Amino acid sequence: MSEKIILTGDRPTGRLHIGHYVGSLKRRVELQNSGEFDKIFIMIADAQALTDNSDNPEKVRQHIVEVALDYLAIGLDPKKTVIFIQSQIPQLCELSFYYMNLVTVSRLQRNPTVKSEIQARNFEASIPVGFFTYPISQAADITAFKATTVPVGEDQEPMLEQAKEIVRKFNSVYGEALVEPKILLPDNKACLRLPGVDGNAKMSKSLGNCIYLAEEPEEIRKKIMSMYTDPNHIRVEDPGSIEGNTVFTYLDAFSRQDHFERFLPEYANLDELKAHYQRGGLGDVKVKKFLDKIIQEELEPIRNRRKEYQKDISYVYQMLKEGSEAAEKVAAQTLAEVKQAMKINYFDDENLIAGQQEKYSEN
Ligand code: ATP
Ligand code: MG
Repeated sequence: MSEKIILTGDRPTGRLHIGHYVGSLKRRVELQNSGEFDKIFIMIADAQALTDNSDNPEKVRQHIVEVALDYLAIGLDPKKTVIFIQSQIPQLCELSFYYMNLVTVSRLQRNPTVKSEIQARNFEASIPVGFFTYPISQAADITAFKATTVPVGEDQEPMLEQAKEIVRKFNSVYGEALVEPKILLPDNKACLRLPGVDGNAKMSKSLGNCIYLAEEPEEIRKKIMSMYTDPNHIRVEDPGSIEGNTVFTYLDAFSRQDHFERFLPEYANLDELKAHYQRGGLGDVKVKKFLDKIIQEELEPIRNRRKEYQKDISYVYQMLKEGSEAAEKVAAQTLAEVKQAMKINYFDDENLIAGQQEKYSEN
């Protein structure tokens, strides 16, 4: 049986938020603790973050440790999971360079996530080449660790497709050296792409519409109380819509049966609450207060654990250094296999030397 290996990661462009939590982080911890995986690699994608933040390296640098603290706070355990920094693994650049030959410009232009990110960043007039090609570098990240499973949010689907295409192309041209990865999306539909508190399609560090994992209770409450709901639901007695209503999307993502029993016993479940809202007579404030209780309960232990790790930042850097060293060894092995398959092995192939000699020897 081949090994089961996880690779995933986050860009250090801000602190991690509850969209990351439901989209990928929570699942990672469950998978880590399931014991079903032979190896788990979690990458802080600083080099990728620089593709659209080249003018602000300090921001990327500052957030590396923030992301690492969030990881430790949610329960990723460096004893079970290799946590590393992308830029510290030079082999990833080499792999990307070779994979670039297997992808066309028009293929990259069709990537819908990159397309919408270009728009959001006002890159239409001039796209940095590094940003344009980041799906290729992401394929290098995934394949360097021979990942079989990549737990991510829905926006990453086109990246996984691109990675698979590169693997197939590579293996068919050069021989089977790479492993095809599988995407692992959240089961809960509301978690695929959690909207921002402003109702925007995606909660995103770059859009500033987030509830951060490390957020203080009062900030969380404020953000929830001013959250986007149904703009036509003006008076309590008005019928309200739950479609595109962020508060209900968050309840879909976060609420469980026991939350009703403990915090809102007058409703048996989420369906009953939704039905009341739709027929009118249920105010936004009551629903928001319920959501606030749920989110507060979920984030409190994470925030407290983070505060413990914050007391020893040099431990966090040491952990990242050791993780990066361990990751580099694995990537170096894969790169050697890739170069072997691509016939970039000029000095250790005796047949090559002998064959060249034969061409010139008189007989
Ligand atoms: P940036 O705006 O810098 O791209 P981001 O908030 O999109 O930041 P990433 O680091 O790009 O965060 O994504 C990390 C992981 O979190 C990916 O697996 C991504 O699919 C997932 N993710 C990000 N935002 C959401 C969201 N709103 N809902 C669900 N999953 C998300
Ligand atoms: Mg992103």
